[in-house]
Amino acid sequence: MASSFRAFLVNDLFGDPALYVALPWERRALLFDLGDITALSAGRLLKITDVFVSHAHLDHFVGFDQLLRVLLGRPKGLRLYGPPGFLDRVEGKLRGYTWNLVEGYSLTLEVHEVHSDRVVKARFACSEGFFRLDDPAPHPFDGVILDEPQFRVRAVHLDHRIPCLAFALEEPVHLNVDRAALEALGVPVGPWLIDLKRTVRSGAPDEHPIRIVSTQDGRRVERVLPLGVLRREVVRVSPGQKLAYVTDAVNSPENAEKIVKLAWGADLFYCEAGYPERDRDRATSRFHLTAGQAGRLAAEAQARRLVVFHFSPKYRDCPGDLLDEAMAAFGRRLVG
Ligand SMILES: [Zn+2]
Ligand SMILES: [Zn+2]
Repeated sequence: MASSFRAFLVNDLFGDPALYVALPWERRALLFDLGDITALSAGRLLKITDVFVSHAHLDHFVGFDQLLRVLLGRPKGLRLYGPPGFLDRVEGKLRGYTWNLVEGYSLTLEVHEVHSDRVVKARFACSEGFFRLDDPAPHPFDGVILDEPQFRVRAVHLDHRIPCLAFALEEPVHLNVDRAALEALGVPVGPWLIDLKRTVRSGAPDEHPIRIVSTQDGRRVERVLPLGVLRREVVRVSPGQKLAYVTDAVNSPENAEKIVKLAWGADLFYCEAGYPERDRDRATSRFHLTAGQAGRLAAEAQARRLVVFHFSPKYRDCPGDLLDEAMAAFGRRLVG
């Protein structure tokens, strides 16, 4: 089954954490962690609507300025989510620059600071010099930080000597288009299928018209079918995809329980694996996981595929050791 989420790590296994997740049906993208993102094109950066920051260690948050640089001057809203203390971290970054001559700019940052029992929000509008405007009342936190018809994002707090967020991106249902059924109806494939899926996800009624535009012999041909017909004949519904993202965390019973629960049954599990088992004490003293621990957690969570990353530069000449170790502990498919 094709995945709805097109996810890739921005950097190599030793680079800063940043996971880019494109949502093709929405022509938008999510970003998990905000390390060095110089490898991402401006086009890709402009698609980002939501950024989930696990914690504000430099290697997870240094890309903030870069993202801001590209988005500045764009009529856009950007949501950022981070652990306790995050509002001050964002405000501190913004206060590091001079913001005059930006009166006409409409970029607005909506920042969500996720505590164990509540989410505290503030807005920073470019046109107001990114002055911090706090939401008067906190919102209760029930584990879900973003809930949309097409997907939701859950978060848990892990122990990394500081609170660190781990995330799961879940699609309630997965939609496939049956090409043979499409042919039987005499309608062509095309970009209109993206709109069809979006409309199905929105729960629109059967009579909702779907415009099918194609080109035949150089002529633009338009046909309209009711959503109900296409939903019944062409769209196949299966269980949704799930992606989990965990970095950085120490190997403790509390963290393990939370990670296994979060990543349970994930189709794709991104997990940090900074150190080999032979240096487990070093990993523990730095509040990180080993490759073996990552593999065991993924196996316990019954994840389908595991991607290990965030390797310590100390092992630059032997990444195979960490990959092999994670693979052996996981016992299933490891994606390099
Ligand atoms: Zn860290
Ligand atoms: Zn880190």
